[in-house]
Parts: sequence; C-alpha cells; structure tokens
Amino acid sequence: DMSSKKQQNTNIINENNIGTILTFGPFIFIPLTVLLFSLLIINTSNESFKKNVEKVEQNLHHTHRKTIKAQVESMVNHIVYHKSVTKQDMKKRIKSRVNNAIKIAKAIETKYRDTKSKKEIQEIIIEALRPMLWNKGESYIWILDFKGVFYLSPKYLKHLEGSSIIDFKDASGKEIIKEEIKLCKNEGEGFLWDTFIRPNYDKTKQFKQLAFVKSVGFYDWYMGSSEYLDSATKSADKILLTSISKIDAMNSNYFYIVKRDGTMLLHSAMNEMVGKNIKSYKEGIAKNIYKMIYDIFRDNNSGYITYDWDNPKTKKEEKKYTYIQAVPNSDWIVATGYYESTVKDEVAKQSRELYEAHNMKLTNLVFGSIILLIVSLFISYFVSRFIKKSFENYQEEITAKAKELKVLNNSLESKVKERTKELMQATKDLEKIAKTDYLTKAHSRYSIMEVLKHEIHRCNRHKTILSLAMVDIDFFKRINDIYGHDKGDFVLVELVKLLKLNLRDIDYIGRYGGEEFLLLMPDTKIDGAKSTIERMMKSISEYDFGLDKPLTISVGLVEYEENESIDIFLKRADTLLYESKENGRNLVTI
Ligand code: GH3
Ligand code: MG
Ligand code: MG
Repeated sequence: DMSSKKQQNTNIINENNIGTILTFGPFIFIPLTVLLFSLLIINTSNESFKKNVEKVEQNLHHTHRKTIKAQVESMVNHIVYHKSVTKQDMKKRIKSRVNNAIKIAKAIETKYRDTKSKKEIQEIIIEALRPMLWNKGESYIWILDFKGVFYLSPKYLKHLEGSSIIDFKDASGKEIIKEEIKLCKNEGEGFLWDTFIRPNYDKTKQFKQLAFVKSVGFYDWYMGSSEYLDSATKSADKILLTSISKIDAMNSNYFYIVKRDGTMLLHSAMNEMVGKNIKSYKEGIAKNIYKMIYDIFRDNNSGYITYDWDNPKTKKEEKKYTYIQAVPNSDWIVATGYYESTVKDEVAKQSRELYEAHNMKLTNLVFGSIILLIVSLFISYFVSRFIKKSFENYQEEITAKAKELKVLNNSLESKVKERTKELMQATKDLEKIAKTDYLTKAHSRYSIMEVLKHEIHRCNRHKTILSLAMVDIDFFKRINDIYGHDKGDFVLVELVKLLKLNLRDIDYIGRYGGEEFLLLMPDTKIDGAKSTIERMMKSISEYDFGLDKPLTISVGLVEYEENESIDIFLKRADTLLYESKENGRNLVTI
C-alpha cells in the first residue's frame, strides 16, 4: 500500500513536469530557434557583406588597372606618333639638304664643264659645299666616290680627304661605306640607319644617326648627309614632353616618363624629380623600383609593378600600383599608377552604401523575426493548451479508472476474507466430523485411539491410573433383524446417552466398532471403574428402548499397567470381553 502511494506521488510529479514542459517549453524553444536562425542569417548576411566589399575592392582594382593601362597606351601611341613625325621631318630635312647640295654641284659642273679641268671643278664644288653645316657642325655634306675615297669630309676628319675609307665599320661591325655605295649604285639614293663617331665627342663612342645618300651623276661621286638621332629628336622631344605634361592625370594620380638609364624626363606631380636619376632618389631606395622598370624595358614590354612610394596628396608613403610600357624604338618608358588609398577611399564610399543596404536588410530581418516569434508563440500557446487539456482529460480518465479499480480490489479482498472464514469453519467442522462419530456423537475410533495414546503417555509420565472398558452389545444382530436397521441405530444413539449419564466429564466414550465402544476412565482405579460399569449395566437394562427384551452389554475391564503397549492393553480388554460373552453375556470381566 505504501509503495503504491509512493509510485502515485512520482507519477504526479512526472505529470506535472509534462504540464510544465508543455506550457513553458515552446516559450523557450521557439525564441531560441528564432534567435538561432536570425543569428545564422545575420552571420551569412555579414559574410556576404564582407564578400561584396571585397568584390568592390577587386572591381575597383580591376577598373583602375585597366584605366592606367589605357592611359599609358594612349600616351605611348601619342609619343610614337610624334616621334615618327619627327623622323619624317628629319628624313625630309636630310634629303632636301643632299638634293640642294647636288643641285649646287650640278650647276657648278655645268657652268665650268667646258672651261675648267675636272680637278678644278671638283675643287670648286668641294669648297662650295664645305660651309654647308647644321646643328653646330654635327650635320654636313660629305662626298665620296664609289671606291670609297673621301672628297669632302667634316672638319674633324679632314685628314682623311683623298684617301679611301671603304673599310670603315660602325659599332655593330657593319661596313657602312660599302653599303652606301651599293645603295647608290643600285637604287640611286636611299636612307640608312647606322652609328658613327661624332665631332666634339670621344672617338671611341658611336651615335645613332640617319643618313641619306644619293649618287651625284658624275665623277662616280655620291653625296650624303646625316643627323644624329638624339640631336634631331632633342628639340622635338622637348616640345613633345611639354605637350604631354599638359595632359591631366586621370584619377588625380600622376604619370611619369623615364629614360632607360633612369633619368626622369617628365613627372606630372613632382617636377623636382625631372632631370634626376631615380636610382639616386630616396637614398637609393628607388633603385629597386628602377630595376623593376628596367626589367620591363629590357624585354621591350609592358606590365604592372607594385611598390611603396610617397603619395603627393597625402604626403605619406603608400602602396602604389603602376603600369609601365616602353615606347618602341626609343629609350623612353611611360608609367602611371594609382595609390591603394584611392581604391580604399572609393571602397569606403561604396561600402557605406552597401552597409546601408545591409543594415536595411538586417532591420527587416529583426522585424521579420519578431513577427515570426510572436506568431509562433501564439500558435504554440494554443497548441500546447490543446495538448495540455487533452492530457488533463486523459489524466482524469486514468484517475477515475484507478478509483474503480481500487473499489473492485477492495470488494475482492473482502470476498476472499469471507471465503477464507467459511473455509476455516468448514475445516473446523470437518475436523469435528473426523473426531466424532456421526451417529452417536461419541468419539470416533480414530479420535478415541488418539485420546488413549495421550492418556497412556500421561500414565507413564505422571504415574497416574487409567481404566479401560471394552463394551459390546449382546445380540445386536437380532435387534436389526427384528426391528430394522433404523431401530438399531436408534438403540446405539440412546445407549451412548446412557453411557454418558453414568460417566464423569473427564471420561471418554469412543465408538470402536459397529456396536462396540471403548470407555476411558482416567484417574480411576479398576474397582471404582467396575462399580461405575455395573451401575451403567443396571441403568441400561432398566432403560426402555422399546424392545421386547431388556438390552444388555458385555464388558471387558482392564487397568493400565506401567509401560504396557497400547496393543497389549487393548488385547487384554478384548480377551476379557470375549470371556464375558463366553460366560453368558451381561457380564463385566476384570
Ligand atoms: P453377540 O451377543 O455375540 O455380540 O451377538 P450379536 O448379534 O451382537 O453379534 P455381532 O456382535 O457379531 O453382531 C453385530 C451386529 O451389529 C452386526 C451388525 O448387523 C450390527 N450392526 C453393526 N453396526 C450397526 C449399526 O451401526 N446399526 C445397526 N442397526 N446395526 C449394526
Ligand atoms: Mg459385536
Ligand atoms: Mg454384539
């Protein structure tokens, strides 16, 4: 009962728990879920925002790189065009000088052909053309014949006049005199690029020059004139650089033009650098930059380089992305770039816009989450209420069923008790039946034997006395035969009553056989027992059983002898009873 009560308590606790979980579970679970999802979306959104910013930066870099490349390319094209124009001018100039000189020579020859000797005429022509000098004497007219003999030479080579310089070679090993002769012989005239020594310069050094040579038409002569490239382009370059310097740098960045040896030709932002060599700039730190620039120049190529340099706008050293391109057929390199801060500023500006959009998205998300939270809490409230109600109904049902069961159990218990009581009574009755002779209500044979055993035991232990009478009705068969079996039974019942009347309460009567009885008389000596038996026999014979003759009994009477067995004790009584019968019946034999 105790344990069932305890179990009921734990059940109640569990049921309460379920109720609590049903009520409060969703209020914890749903906000947690919404919070988790919101955090997840915020995180994803943040990631995508970061990625977008990164993308913006990448795109800006991409655009800037394209822009600076286009800028450099257009500048290079501009330079290439100007330089080609310069060369065209140069060609025209040289050609017209030679043509003029030939015209003069022809005029002189025509004039003196008939009056002067060939040698005289040649002298006149040579001296007429000798003063024709340009570019501070660096450009002049020279005359050679097809054998390579020098007729008219520049002043600094005058000692060679009259001798052949046919084997003269330029810096690259080209036999330039032979080539000139070949050109004049085959084509009559033509241009040639070569290198040549220069007046007022070291004789071991050669300079690039453009030469025009033309066959004169007489004396196997050809004339030529040339201009050194640098001196020809010097003034043109100056004009070119001035025109370029007027170009506005895009994106507030600067551009510069540098020579292959590192000399700064033009710098759109730092004029103080012009004319200086970048190798020596910033205590030689720029040497590495020069090396990067030179690598690209050497391959006559173009490309991007990255280095740290002062930003003229912020005055701070910053990472700079530069695109450089070598101008074809020149020693110029054009470069322009942009600072990382330019991109960073723009990224900041664009990411502000992105951030606003991102914020808007997050605000929407928060509002959405709150609405979702409220709606789901409402739904869960109703759902959990419904479940709780069903659960409570179910619980009530169970409680009712449990009560019913208890009542049923109780009635069953009382029924079992009642039955047990009945059964016990029945057992008791059965016991009584077993101990009592059904007809006479005297002790049964089994019971009287038990009593006898007990009494014998008592005699042996306490040295007490016990008398035993074995009684048999005389001629009982005759009663049955004459009056019927029922009458016989009646006689037996009445007889026992009479026997009882003549005995004490402590004495026992037992039905030993059909009409044989054992009488036990404890604490009774045989003499006393004898008189009791005789009194008994007298009252029996005087009693009216409704028979034709008085009823008599025969008796064998014995007193117990110490340590005598029950069988011998009984045998003795039986023997004495037999004796009584033998001796005529209605007798007690001791
Ligand atoms: P005796 O003087 O030699 O004893 O003669 P008896 O007729 O009594 O002979 P016995 O003892 O041999 O006979 C007993 C008879 O008792 C036999 C039987 O029919 C009868 N009897 C035994 N038990 C009952 C009983 O319970 N009811 C009736 N009516 N008769 C019984
Ligand atoms: Mg008998
Ligand atoms: Mg008999």
